[in-house]
Amino acid sequence: MIYMAPVYELTIPSSGKRMHFRPYVVSEEKVLAMAGEADDIKSIITAVKRIVSACADSPIDVDSLCLFDLEYLFINIRAKSVGEISRVKIACSDESCNTYNDVNLDLSKTKVVTNGTADSTVALSDEVTLTLQYITVGAYERFEVGKDYDGTSVETLMKLLACSIKTINGVPTTEYAVDELLHFVESFSRDSIQKIQSFIETTPVVQTVIEFKCKKCKKENAITVSGIGAFFKVAMAHMSLMNYYKENFAMMQHHGYSLAELENMIPWEREIYLALLSEHIVQENERIAKQNAEIKAKSRGR
Ligand SMILES: [Zn+2]
Repeated sequence: MIYMAPVYELTIPSSGKRMHFRPYVVSEEKVLAMAGEADDIKSIITAVKRIVSACADSPIDVDSLCLFDLEYLFINIRAKSVGEISRVKIACSDESCNTYNDVNLDLSKTKVVTNGTADSTVALSDEVTLTLQYITVGAYERFEVGKDYDGTSVETLMKLLACSIKTINGVPTTEYAVDELLHFVESFSRDSIQKIQSFIETTPVVQTVIEFKCKKCKKENAITVSGIGAFFKVAMAHMSLMNYYKENFAMMQHHGYSLAELENMIPWEREIYLALLSEHIVQENERIAKQNAEIKAKSRGR
């Protein structure tokens, strides 16, 4: 258990409601790293949901959050848990160059960019009226949008449309079966689909811009990061599961930490201990080398 963890405040972008959260700890970071190894949107969203609800100071219904809320909360919690700077390797956008550059990305500069407004009510006919919503985490998972997502197929489009409907004549879509809703959406006219798409296009976007001058061709790059998959990569760039186990093993084996102690540290705390330890090891090695040299000198003097 964590005692007296620091608490920070955040504003949920879609609702403007304030929430408090604590940083995640090393054992929770492991959950994220495992999802990173799985490398599919479904595992990533499941892991991020677990972390956001675990770190929230009071119970939070993660399924009712919009996807962009989840991205924003995750990036902010990560910034307080690991640090605001993420070191990433980014390829130069010049196609003939493509050189990888080490770049420090400041996650605290992540913004929610709004994209205008559109009517959230669509009348399909005189009898049927829809109300729309920005895609929630719950809807995204329910329609398995992440599965085989390609952004262009008809199947993906139908899922996105279905996710965006909040009510049909006042009845929440959660009361209908997934198949039923997908069939319903397939029956829409081109005009109705257009209206829903216009609404989807106004979804706020969480984004950050990575700016750097390429070390090789000197091109000034400005690469926009958005979407939970891309943010996850950027946020977890420091972490590899193998290193995690190696470092923990060394700290337990040689320095007497227990696994429970390590796993309850905030990741940046563990980093500090690791840094202090390696500094200590360098000093120790210097001391031993000096001692050995003195012993040699003495024995020669005899
Ligand atoms: Zn370049």
